[in-house]
This record gives sequence, C-alpha cells and structure tokens, in this order.
Amino acid sequence: MTEAPIPVFDGHNDVLWRLWSSAGGLDKAVKIFTEGAADGHIDAIKARKGGLAGGLCAIYVPSNDQKRATRNADGHYDTPLAGPLERGPSLDIALQMAHIALEIERAGGWRLCRSGADIDTAMADGVFAAVLHLEGCEPIGADLSALSVLHAAGLRSLGPVWSRNNIFAHGVPFAFPKCPDTGPGLTDLGKALVRECDRLGILVDCAHITEKGFWDIAETSENPLIVSHSNAHALTPVARNLTDRQLDAVRERKGIVGLNYAVSMLREDGAENPDTSIDDMLRHIDYLVERVGIDGVALGSDFDGAMIPAVIGSAAGLPSLVRGLETHGITGPDLEKLCRGNWRRVIGQVIG
Ligand SMILES: [Zn+2]
Repeated sequence: MTEAPIPVFDGHNDVLWRLWSSAGGLDKAVKIFTEGAADGHIDAIKARKGGLAGGLCAIYVPSNDQKRATRNADGHYDTPLAGPLERGPSLDIALQMAHIALEIERAGGWRLCRSGADIDTAMADGVFAAVLHLEGCEPIGADLSALSVLHAAGLRSLGPVWSRNNIFAHGVPFAFPKCPDTGPGLTDLGKALVRECDRLGILVDCAHITEKGFWDIAETSENPLIVSHSNAHALTPVARNLTDRQLDAVRERKGIVGLNYAVSMLREDGAENPDTSIDDMLRHIDYLVERVGIDGVALGSDFDGAMIPAVIGSAAGLPSLVRGLETHGITGPDLEKLCRGNWRRVIGQVIG
C-alpha cells in the first residue's frame, strides 16, 4: 500500500469553467467531476490521488474577445485587455456555474464550505472542501443585490476584476515584461463592493487587479491582504505578478499569496512552455517566503485555468511538488502551513 498523499488546500482553480465549457450539459458536467475524465486538471479521482483536499473554486465568465499573446523575438508580449462584459449574460453564466457546483455537491462530489469549520469537517470526512469564488464581478450590478444572493448561495470569496475592466475596478493585462501599475484601481462602486464583502464575510482577492487597485483594496478592507494566484515579479516580471512593495504589504497585513503554477508566471523567460521544473516553482516559493514569511505563503495552482508544468500534469501530480518542497527543506509545521494551514487561517478569519 502506498502512503496517503499530504493534503493540500489550494487557493485557485477553474474547474467550474472547464466543466461549464464541456459539451453534454449539466449531468455530463457533474459526471466528469465525480467519475473523472482523461483530460483536465481536477476531478474527484485526480484530487484524491494527488491529495488535493479542497480549494477556492472560481466562477469565471470568459471573454470571447481575449487575444492570445503575440510574442516578439525576445519573447516579450503585451496583450490588450479584453473588452467589458454585459451584466445580464454574465449573471446567466455565473448562475449556470453555481448550478454545476450545487449539483456536484448533491452528487457527493464535493462539499460547498461556508465557514472554516465546514472546511475542517469536509477534509476530516475525506470530501473535497470547495469554497465558491467569483473571479471578476461582472455578474454583480451596481446595487450589489446579486452579491447578497450569491453569498446566500454559498459564495465566500471574490476578485473584483479579472484581467479586464468593469464597473468596480481595472484589471491588469497579460504582458511580459511589465509592471502591474498599469492604470486606475477601484472605482467608488468597487470600494462599496469591498466594504460590503467585509460586512458579509467574503474574501477579497487582489489577483488580476492593477497595482493601484491592490492599494485601494488595502485601504478599503480591514481584512488580511489576499492574492490567491500570483508570483514574484522580481523573478518573473509579468504584470500579473507582485512587486516587492506589494509583497511587503501582504506581510504587514498578515495576508497570503498563493503560488500560481502557470508556467508563464514561473519561468524567467515568461514562456508558455510546459517543460518547466519544480525548481522554478521552488525559486518563487523561496522568494515569497523570504519576503512575506512562512505564514503568508500558500498554493494557488490555477488548475484548469493555465498551462502548468508537465512534471505536475494535474491534481494527481501534486505529490511531485510536495516532495520537492520537502527535499528543499520545507517540512513539518512549515509544510503544513504552506500546503493548507495558511489558507485555513485566513479563510477562517474572514468568513468565520
Ligand atoms: Zn486567474
């Protein structure tokens, strides 16, 4: 018998988007998750195999006009932001993804967790602990009524923007090399959204927002600063990664940064190349731990949302990363914090 993998609670995945995009409707989408599929990064089978015990599962409304990165001879690119989305169709899609999430729960594929204690119970029961996240708030209108309803349906985390602009905030483009200070931050409505999240007990995620937006969230929210899936800009200068100043603020505010496995955000050359090593991931981990401290570093895979290192491949390959961390000297309580404890602490603090 092989040893059980070390449990990981992860800060960001797009499995709901992948299931929603798959052909065959609701029943098929639920089945893909509960019974597993050959492709994709996350399903119940791969999660169990790799020790993925839970995570923040994003409702993400895709942009049909998002351009692919065109790289010059040096590998540099600066992709324009996708255009704004309409609220009505965005809300339809968000409800469809939330519906998939609720049906997976009904089928016993995971449990939707509304508190830190829910996460503990699900993990102790060996059931995937899913926390519903909204990546980009286009489904929410200016009166914030949809926020209240989505919260009642289980939503416990959101990022005001994806990499595009909306009524709440400005997103950071996909660009390399580029500084994340690319434009304005939160709008007045965005500040109201952040305050309402604090009141309801919803995490506010700074991933995908401009640097100005990051500082606006820091000023508006009382909670720890959370960046669910971003890396160190000093090592990989994509606009989506965090500058030293931002990392210092995360430390001061006792927040958290989740390591993104997207190869273009890990590699020195920023290339979209799956031949990316565990060492590239460890370089970012070392830097983040040095800058933010071991209490503020966690994992934020971007499973089902990005090209990840082939050596990991899917959630089933998580033990390769965990073994890499151990061989690198991150063991015992430090490993526990990085793999799940830090997320558990911050989530409990914000959502109860
Ligand atoms: Zn993302």
